[in-house]
Amino acid sequence: MDNEIVTTSNTTKCLNCGNEFDGKFCPKCGQKAATGRFTMKFLMQNLLMGIFGNDGGIWFTLKKLFTHPGTMVKEILDGKRKSYFSPFPMLFCALAFYILLFTLTGTVDDTRVDLHGEDFVISLNKYNYILSSNQLSRFLDAYWNHYTTSTLLTLPLIVVAARACFGKKNRKRYYWAEYCVPIVYAMVLTTLFRCLTCIVFTFAPEVALFLKLFTWVIMAVSIAFCFRKMAEMSFIKSFWRSLLTMLLYHTMILFLIIIGVIVVAKIQGSVIIDA
Ligand SMILES: [Zn+2]
Repeated sequence: MDNEIVTTSNTTKCLNCGNEFDGKFCPKCGQKAATGRFTMKFLMQNLLMGIFGNDGGIWFTLKKLFTHPGTMVKEILDGKRKSYFSPFPMLFCALAFYILLFTLTGTVDDTRVDLHGEDFVISLNKYNYILSSNQLSRFLDAYWNHYTTSTLLTLPLIVVAARACFGKKNRKRYYWAEYCVPIVYAMVLTTLFRCLTCIVFTFAPEVALFLKLFTWVIMAVSIAFCFRKMAEMSFIKSFWRSLLTMLLYHTMILFLIIIGVIVVAKIQGSVIIDA
């Protein structure tokens, strides 16, 4: 008897979650009712839709990110999600593109921070920690030469800094995770700026290395633009807070690097116990 009902009605069994339903989309998981096999045509359509589609396509999102970043972030936070390419996948695409360009253009990126000075000594409790300037340079180099990756790996610190700098009103209004949206989109813009420096490198390496010095400024400007609408601030005010965010974030990084150097010194046994 049950069998008869299934065959006479128009219900479809969802191939994704097994739910039986009537309609074009599964109400339980959202998958399309008509799921054919993978064909070349389907793959091409899928790829083109992902890039050029007006509904969540990467090109549409990029255009909006360049023209109205603040509005876009606000709309996403307010729930307009399907129209835009999500922040993290977008950042991974940008990073992949950057790595590709970096390799193809043969960009050489090995700025050396040279702290010619003597080793610093930090006294904590009864111990004197020797802060090797060599070691410190190495850590700073590693951070700076992989700035895009470093910022991605230390994203929670940027969120902490932004939360501290963008005011009490916003702290009350937005969750921690919601701060990630503007920051990650700002990182996409920064990564695209780094792509540009790779292209510049092919015909003017010195100019590219000079431009690279402004990476953190681009990051600050991008954060200001992305936060503007959600924080309901003028650009100047948002930029000022964004500069403070970057300052606080870099201070935390420097602090972490110093701790790292101390840990290395401790492992290597170059800690002097004061009498
Ligand atoms: Zn389903």
